[in-house]
Amino acid sequence: MNTFELDNQYIAHTYGRAPVAFVSGKGSELFDEDGKRYIDLGTGIAVNAFGVSDDAWLAAVVRQASTLQHASNLYYTAPMARLAQLLCEKSGMKKVFFGNSGAEANEGAIKAARKYAHDKYGEERSTIVTLINSFHGRTIATLAATGQDAFHTHFGPFPEGFAYVPANDLAAMERQLDSVPCAAVMMELVQGEGGVCALDPEYVRGVEALCRARDVLLVIDEVQTGNGRTGRYFAYQLYGVTPDIVTTAKGIAGGLPMGAVLFGERTENVLEKGQHGSTFGGNPVCAAAGVSVVERIDDALLAEVRKKGEYIRAALEGTPHVKAVTGLGLMVGIETDKAAADVAAACRERGVIVLTAHDRVRLLPALNIPMPLLEEAIGILKEVLAA
Ligand SMILES: *Cc1c(COP(=O)(O)O)cnc(C)c1O
Repeated sequence: MNTFELDNQYIAHTYGRAPVAFVSGKGSELFDEDGKRYIDLGTGIAVNAFGVSDDAWLAAVVRQASTLQHASNLYYTAPMARLAQLLCEKSGMKKVFFGNSGAEANEGAIKAARKYAHDKYGEERSTIVTLINSFHGRTIATLAATGQDAFHTHFGPFPEGFAYVPANDLAAMERQLDSVPCAAVMMELVQGEGGVCALDPEYVRGVEALCRARDVLLVIDEVQTGNGRTGRYFAYQLYGVTPDIVTTAKGIAGGLPMGAVLFGERTENVLEKGQHGSTFGGNPVCAAAGVSVVERIDDALLAEVRKKGEYIRAALEGTPHVKAVTGLGLMVGIETDKAAADVAAACRERGVIVLTAHDRVRLLPALNIPMPLLEEAIGILKEVLAA
């Protein structure tokens, strides 16, 4: 049986896969089983931050895998300690907990936020407010946190204590915070899976003020927006707010599974010994990969990300069938009157990988995609959109 047949026979059918099997790549180029070449504007959903098999990333992974691949959190290991230091230096946050995915990071954030509120105000202060159209993960609690009704079927009962308000409506947030005792507000600053919708900066700063006035924690889900994607290390740095908890994952280890919860001044000591854990969390190979990624996301690289994001926006402007271009930096949403899935399929046919999010085309290229490849890919995308 070939790969397609084996997969269909033996893999649970939870994904709608595109009919392509990738075998290798270098940087922003990918190759499938037939040897066909693609320019990658998807990076495995914002994961391969420096593209495929990047030299520095590869050296870090190989070095660590050939010395110690895992020790468990019963002991100290250098890569995770160094990665936590780097993340705190980049963000101004105080402490880090490592897990393996975005959902696991958000689970940790939910636990820490509830514990903070319980410790200070008692158990009834437990509600986590999230935004309609958000996405926070696929576990039972993070599905409950996700503000999309489509995710709230089949798997109930869901845990209690989540409430949803429309994005960019400060009055609705204020009403919600005053209607039940709330532990935290949790939100993405650019709703990724929800269609690459950036929140209004005034709204975000308003939510921060509402939270501060009530000692409600502000939790920012930077699973997709983090690690340079929007042209700042974290998107909240662009919005000028100070979160109490930040979660991140996707790009952090450049293609290996890793998630992190970052705690600020109010929350750094909330979770105590024995109250949270993860067997694989902070695994040395993933952490060494993370160090190699995070070290390279400096001001010069972030300026490049912003410049390339501006290039994409300028290049797409005025393209027939393009109604709007949304998002920040190299997190780009394209609103088109064509079916996004058809655009993605036509691009793939012509050797360009793009993603979709709801009814939008979504671009998440490598942070270091070379300009000539980006120009070639955007040229093809424009022809597909205009056709
Ligand atoms: C992808 C994503 C998640 C879930 O991450 P997993 O690693 O798939 O668990 C959570 N929040 C946001 C904003 C995401 O984009």
